[in-house]
Amino acid sequence: MEFTPEQEMLRESVRAFAIQEMPEGFAREWDMKGEPPLDTYQRFADAGFMGVGIPEQYGGQGGGIVEVAIVLHELSRAMMSFAIMVYRSAIHASGGLQIYGTEEQRERFLPGIASGHLKFCFSLSEPDAGSDAFNLKCRAVRDGDEYVVNGTKMWNSFARHADNVLLATRTSDEPRKQDGITFFVVDLSSPGIEITPIETIGERASGTNMVTYTDVRVPAANILGTEGEGHRNLQANLERERFSSLPINLGPMEAILEEAVEYANTREQFGQAIGRFQAIQHMLADVAVDVNIARTLTWDLARRIAAGEPCSLEVSMAKLWISEAMMRASYTGMQVMGGYGYTLDSNMQLHWRNARLGTIGAGSSEIQRNIIARQIGLGGQPS
Ligand SMILES: Cc1cc2nc3c(=O)[nH]c(=O)nc-3n(C[C@H](O)[C@H](O)[C@H](O)COP(=O)(O)OP(=O)(O)OC[C@H]3O[C@@H](n4cnc5c(N)ncnc54)[C@H](O)[C@@H]3O)c2cc1C
Repeated sequence: MEFTPEQEMLRESVRAFAIQEMPEGFAREWDMKGEPPLDTYQRFADAGFMGVGIPEQYGGQGGGIVEVAIVLHELSRAMMSFAIMVYRSAIHASGGLQIYGTEEQRERFLPGIASGHLKFCFSLSEPDAGSDAFNLKCRAVRDGDEYVVNGTKMWNSFARHADNVLLATRTSDEPRKQDGITFFVVDLSSPGIEITPIETIGERASGTNMVTYTDVRVPAANILGTEGEGHRNLQANLERERFSSLPINLGPMEAILEEAVEYANTREQFGQAIGRFQAIQHMLADVAVDVNIARTLTWDLARRIAAGEPCSLEVSMAKLWISEAMMRASYTGMQVMGGYGYTLDSNMQLHWRNARLGTIGAGSSEIQRNIIARQIGLGGQPS
C-alpha cells in the first residue's frame, strides 16, 4: 500500500520519537521493572500522537485506521507493550466512543485520551469466562441514576495505571448469554475497586491484574452503547480491534529479523560468520518471508477497513496467522543468537516472551479457527 505524503510524514515522526525516547534497552528495562513508562506516554501524547484517529473537534489530529496502524506499528518496533497501552485507549476506548458512544461521552472522554490525561483499559474476561467471554457474571444493578457493580474480572491489563476501564457487565439474564450485557466507562479510582497484580512472563510493563468490584457505584450516564446490547456494540469495533494485532506484531517481527541478520553477520564460529551457514540462512529466509506476508496483510487490511469493505473473516485469519508467525520469528531469532538470545540482556528473549500471549489473548488461535470454520460453513462448535 502506498502511503500518502501525510501518512509518510506521520510514520517518520513516530519512528523518530521511538528512536529518541525508546533507545536500545528501554523496552527490557521497563519489562524488568514491571511498570509502564508513563512519562514517555505523556510526552508521546504531548507530541500529538494520542490524538491520531480522533477528530479535530474532540482535540485530536484526525485520521483513521490506517494512521492509527502506522502509529502502532512504529511504536511496536521499539516496545510492543507501549503499543498495546496506546492501543487500549486509541482503539478500544476511542474506537468504542466514536462508534457507539453518545455525543456527550465523546466530548467528555475523547479530548482527555488525545491529551494523554485519560488512559483506558478494557475488561471482559472473568475467572469463569475466558474464551467463553459472554458467559460473564459481573453484575450491574440499577439504583436510581446509578448502577451498582459487583463481580470479579481477570487478566485486566494496565488496570493499575489507567484512569478508566471499559467494563463488560451483565445487566439482565436472557436466554442467550450474548444478550443482557452492558458496557460502562468506570472510573478506576471509585470506592469498592480492588486491583491485585498477576505476575506474567510477558507484557510485564503494562501489568496484568485481577480486579474485584464490591458495590461500586457508576453513573447511568456512563453506559457505553445500549443497555443489554454490549455484545452487538463490541462486534461493531471488533474488526478494528482484531486488526490491531497486525501492526502490533509486524513491528517486532521486523526488529527480530534485523537483529538476527546483524548477529548472524557478525558472530563467528568455525572461522566464519554464522550467517554463512546455509542452515542459518534458511531459517532467516523463512522469517523474511513471514515479515513480507505480515506487511502485505497489515496494509491491505488497513486499506480495506478504511474503505468500509467487510473483511471480518480475513481479519480473523490474519490475527491467527500473525500471532503464530510472531512466535516462529522470535523462536528462530533466539535460535540464531544461541545462548546470547536466551539471556536477559537480549531483546530476543523479550520478543519470545511477548509473542506467547498473541495466540492466547484476544481470542485464542483455537477460537479464531472456530470462527473461520463457522464462516466457511462448518457447524458444531460452541459459540
Ligand atoms: C497477559 C494477559 C493479558 C490479558 N489482558 C486482558 C485484558 O486486558 N482484558 C480482558 O478482558 N482480557 C484479557 N486477557 C484475557 C484473554 O483474552 C484470555 O486469556 C483469553 O480469552 C483466553 O481465556 P482463558 O485464559 O480463560 O483460557 P480458556 O478459555 O480457559 O482456554 C484454555 C484453552 O482451551 C482452548 N479452548 C477454549 N474454548 C475452546 C473451544 N471452544 N474450542 C477449542 N479450544 C478451546 C483455548 O484456546 C485455550 O487453549 C489477558 C490474558 C493474558 C494472559
